[in-house]
Amino acid sequence: KEEFSRGALRSKTVDDILTPLKDCFMLSSTAVLDFSTMSEIMQSGYTRVPIYEEERSNIVEILYVKDLALVDPDDCTPMTTITKFYNHPLHFVFNDTKLDAMLEEFKKGNSALAIVQKVNNEGEGDPFYEVLGLVTLEDVIEEIIKSEILDE
Ligand code: ADP
Repeated sequence: KEEFSRGALRSKTVDDILTPLKDCFMLSSTAVLDFSTMSEIMQSGYTRVPIYEEERSNIVEILYVKDLALVDPDDCTPMTTITKFYNHPLHFVFNDTKLDAMLEEFKKGNSALAIVQKVNNEGEGDPFYEVLGLVTLEDVIEEIIKSEILDE
């Protein structure tokens, strides 16, 4: 059984389990932490919120919901004041990363969320990194559990 699960982790990649960019709950770096934005964050239910600049594919920071504990909505604090203060590291992985490697990455790091990118060399211009979405430890664990249940 263990062999099977490991096999599934070896054959699948981050591509198979990521949350696509269009489904990600994210906010702009120009956002202001007023009552409306803070409610929106709380209602999203997520513990981490990627912060983008100009366009959603340009993720520059990450906000942890717990960073908001001392923020008073009446102060209308700019988002960047908080993200620059906590300055949580951003982790990037490639879309073809195997799930066993991803699991090791998550075990090593202190962050359990990574931004997934691929090298886009379609088209005329130079290749560029294209952001596809995000992946968390929870997504990898879900895959492990699924493969164990299938094997029963
Ligand atoms: P949380 O602690 O915020 O619930 P988890 O790490 O438990 O996040 O992940 C639960 C699921 O939600 C995973 O499928 C993950 O890809 C997805 N997820 C995590 N953060 C976000 C976000 N900001 N927007 C959209 N999906 C997210």
